Amino acid sequence: MKNRNVDKSRNMDKNQNIDSDFKDNISFISDKHFSYDLFPKMRLRRLRKTAAIRELFQEIRLSPKDFVMPIFVQEGINKNLEIESMPGIFRYSPDKILEEIDHISTLGIKGIILFGIPLKKDLNGKNSFNDKGIVQETIKSIKKNFGEKLAIITDVCLCQYTSHGHCGIFQGNEINNDKSLDILSKTALSHAVAGADIVAPSAMMDGQVKSIRDILDDNEFKDTLIMGYSAKQASSFFSPFRDAAHSKPESGNRRSYQMSYHNSREASREIKSDIEEGADVLMIKPAIPNLDLIYAAKQNTLHPIAAYSVSGEYSMIKAATLNNWMDENLAVTESLTAIKRAGANIIISYYAKKMAEILVNS
Ligand SMILES: [Zn+2]
Repeated sequence: MKNRNVDKSRNMDKNQNIDSDFKDNISFISDKHFSYDLFPKMRLRRLRKTAAIRELFQEIRLSPKDFVMPIFVQEGINKNLEIESMPGIFRYSPDKILEEIDHISTLGIKGIILFGIPLKKDLNGKNSFNDKGIVQETIKSIKKNFGEKLAIITDVCLCQYTSHGHCGIFQGNEINNDKSLDILSKTALSHAVAGADIVAPSAMMDGQVKSIRDILDDNEFKDTLIMGYSAKQASSFFSPFRDAAHSKPESGNRRSYQMSYHNSREASREIKSDIEEGADVLMIKPAIPNLDLIYAAKQNTLHPIAAYSVSGEYSMIKAATLNNWMDENLAVTESLTAIKRAGANIIISYYAKKMAEILVNS
């Protein structure tokens, strides 16, 4: 039986084009530690016998420290506004942001990722690198009040700042890659100057990590980290976010720069190029539809892996649980555990606070 399995795997290896993940599984099955004792000697239910035994052998444990909470801060408002398509998630008024950060920090969460919604937008998104812009001012205020208690990550993109809602700059009818790099780098630098610990370029422009690393190094920000949105797909799961960040493209779509979710080999190239350009952390986004990519990135690189569980992932669970179709705590815990099990070192999630509360109270 054993030999037959091994032979079968060898033949498949020779004759078929098996991807590396599948090969890993085959080698695991033929591993010498694998037990071929079957029922009735082997009874896997022994490992599930009591709550204590189940907890003792639980392989994945979540901690508030695994999570990063996304924060939207909006210029020109004086009260927090709930986002219709994301019940329980708010666009924060700048004067109320510290209260929220305090709550997040008290729960033991160690990171936030900031998205700014400016008053003024223009064709080239110039407000994105305004020293007194909404994100820059918010970073300064959080740093002043919380110091090194939590890491400030900033989203570096233009879609919240451009009047057309695209992530780069237009030349004619096309998004011009290299012109966009110039503004993205200036934006990242302005975040670092304000005190951001980690800048996270999300525009999916070629060379964005390299041009940001260069400008940071040239300006004495050698220790500012870069988290690349390495494999970010053109995904329908982003729709609620566009409500939240007022960043819906006025026309067209983002498929000429965001990746197709059909392509895992291309995702590997994106990840490889981010590593070569100097990213410190690699991110896969969205998370649940891409557990295979998260797993592959973890197996094939030595970089920390971040997974962004996006707005649509939040809204799906939220909508179902508001209808009493699922238990919210159980559904959230299960889906976030799956993301960690796939290999994510940190998880950016709109459920970060909720999950931390569940963990603190359990
Ligand atoms: Zn964008």
